[in-house]
Amino acid sequence: MRGTKGFFLLILAVAVIFSLCSCTESSNSPTFSDGSEDFVNGSDFTTAMHGGTAKTLTGNCLIYNVFVNDAESEWTAKATESVLGMLEEAANFLERRFEESGSDGKLSVRFTDASNSAFLSFDEAAPTDASGMNWLGYAFSKTEHGTPNAYLKQCVKNVSDYDNVCFLFLFNKAGRSFATPYDSQYKDCEDYRYERAQIFFSTDRSFEYFCNPSVLAHELLHLFGAVDLYEPHVDTEDAAKVEELFPTELMRFEPTDIFQAEISSLTAYLIGWTKVLPNEYGFLFD
Ligand SMILES: [Zn+2]
Repeated sequence: MRGTKGFFLLILAVAVIFSLCSCTESSNSPTFSDGSEDFVNGSDFTTAMHGGTAKTLTGNCLIYNVFVNDAESEWTAKATESVLGMLEEAANFLERRFEESGSDGKLSVRFTDASNSAFLSFDEAAPTDASGMNWLGYAFSKTEHGTPNAYLKQCVKNVSDYDNVCFLFLFNKAGRSFATPYDSQYKDCEDYRYERAQIFFSTDRSFEYFCNPSVLAHELLHLFGAVDLYEPHVDTEDAAKVEELFPTELMRFEPTDIFQAEISSLTAYLIGWTKVLPNEYGFLFD
């Protein structure tokens, strides 16, 4: 997807495996400030906004954790507490930035702790990057649940207590974490109605994709509609402008100290904190 008009198709590097669809759920029409209306009316504008179980990052949000042991890794009590500590920082960061955004309403981000999360074991080894995004479907097809959706649906019994729910499948091994948000434009969008990310937990800082609170918040933001703001998700010719506009934006920058990162007005719009997309971002939709 090299043209800038494909920008919003690139929710994930692997999104190209999806094709256009016939899902019945339609996204709410986003609102643009003057001059930008054409972007949303074009068929190239597709986003993970407003769909699935994690529609907007507003109201009472629950992150339901599923700790997964596989053929080559398992969770210890110490590692579990460590990743939950990072998640707490990520949740605090999101609530703080929401408050600072001046958005109406409220945001409460809660997550399941070690006592009320799920723990699962699979006999085979999970792939450690987005190339294995279909692996969960394969792994669940061999269980009584059949699909990840069926499994996740029964995890949260009191789902109506929350405005938005998303799920993390956590693996205690090194890998590149990724998210699979619900996008109504994709043929297989229903497979992702229970929006989830796969998190690979490694605190080894010599590893390129070591886990920290920024990684967790970044993947969570995808589930609520945010998009990546780095190459190749952004065209090379736009990269300098994106860097200028979003120097410390969390969708392109994952500092060890998450509070060094910001939520830009673009991401704020995509996750439902604001109603208007600033015109200055029009070049991303050409
Ligand atoms: Zn990303």
